[in-house]
Amino acid sequence: MNETRAIDRLDTGPRFTDHDAIRLNRMFRGSETEDWLRAVVEGNLVGEIALVSSFGAESAALLHLVSRIDDSIPILFLNTGKHFPETLAYRDELTDLLGLNRVDLYPELSDLEKRDETGLRWSYDPDGCCELRKVRPLEKALARYDASLTGRKAFQSTTRANLPRFEVDTSDAQGRMKINPLIDWDADRIAAYFEEHELPRHPLVERGFPSIGCSPCTREVKPGEDPRAGRWSGWDKVECGIHKPGEEPFL
Ligand code: SF4
Repeated sequence: MNETRAIDRLDTGPRFTDHDAIRLNRMFRGSETEDWLRAVVEGNLVGEIALVSSFGAESAALLHLVSRIDDSIPILFLNTGKHFPETLAYRDELTDLLGLNRVDLYPELSDLEKRDETGLRWSYDPDGCCELRKVRPLEKALARYDASLTGRKAFQSTTRANLPRFEVDTSDAQGRMKINPLIDWDADRIAAYFEEHELPRHPLVERGFPSIGCSPCTREVKPGEDPRAGRWSGWDKVECGIHKPGEEPFL
């Protein structure tokens, strides 16, 4: 890997291979999160990076961590048109507080007109709805980046239990590096980080929402349930299509 490689190879093949991900995972084994993340960003080890954030229950930890390293890193927010008003308010609060370089992404109007005219596609085809409102806008935006940062944590669900820090994104042929800085953080560590840095909580957390997505597809979680049990409850669906469950070794 080198600084120019990813950009130079945009039209000639994947930016990264599994071998690159393995090398990075080995290189930073045992390193503290902020140390290795800083080394990756300041050393330009993976080219142009964007952070994809839902401004959900735990998002402030990664947003804070990244903003301390480089506050010019674009923060991509998928504005699906279906968020809780509390999420939009929290997004604005964190953007101001941390001085984020936020970029809101929207679904294509023509897609909505053709495939979700009533705005109710989530109720009978959530995969199709996520495709229109999340997957396509993100794919389009990420095309110009070499790597993305995610806020996924292993403890969130069984489908995320074995994620590495670095993995090659298999969602398209571009071979973008996907980086999971908080993958080995547990709930206590995240809570301690919030406390240490006096980060505000998403207002829905205290109302029983440990994982927060679009309002029609998120319910409260009962004590003892998987933290992501409230997402697409009643559907055989655990991810929105941005992340694919069950693929090894990436997820
Ligand atoms: S989470 Fe629900 S409302 Fe949001 S894009 Fe997916 S299906 Fe649609």
